[in-house]
Amino acid sequence: MKFTTIFNEEIDTPCAGCVVADSTKFREGRIYQSKLWDLSQDFEIAYPGMIVLSPMRHVSNYMDLSEDELNELKILTCHCKIAIKKIFHCEKIAYMFYEKPDGHIHFIIIPLHGLIEIKDKYSVLGELMVKANNLRTDKENMVRVSQAIDDYREYFINI
Ligand SMILES: [Zn+2]
Repeated sequence: MKFTTIFNEEIDTPCAGCVVADSTKFREGRIYQSKLWDLSQDFEIAYPGMIVLSPMRHVSNYMDLSEDELNELKILTCHCKIAIKKIFHCEKIAYMFYEKPDGHIHFIIIPLHGLIEIKDKYSVLGELMVKANNLRTDKENMVRVSQAIDDYREYFINI
């Protein structure tokens, strides 16, 4: 799989999730990393505040996540909620997860803060995919994306 991230990094990899977890790559998008989880801005969709949580190891199936990974996922998800309320003053948050055969399971958290009109949390990803090209070429939007990453980093450095 070959792709260019929202920060114009060219990546060629069999697994995008493993690349995101690799601390030498996608550095501009990284918000926080523990031994078990990576939290980064989505590398394809430049929506301000869109967080992707990926396990540091290649896990395809939710049921293969360890007890430690599940416990930490819960804690990190709660921190994401607090950070979003603090940074965006936003109550509505979309949450979903991706699980595909042999894929890298990941969890997506999207603050519905009104920067982009989104009808409801069930249509959010479809609407963002349609706008993906415009979002990454819109300079003002990219400033907001970087600001959101900085704000998240400031929050997560203190957890
Ligand atoms: Zn992987």
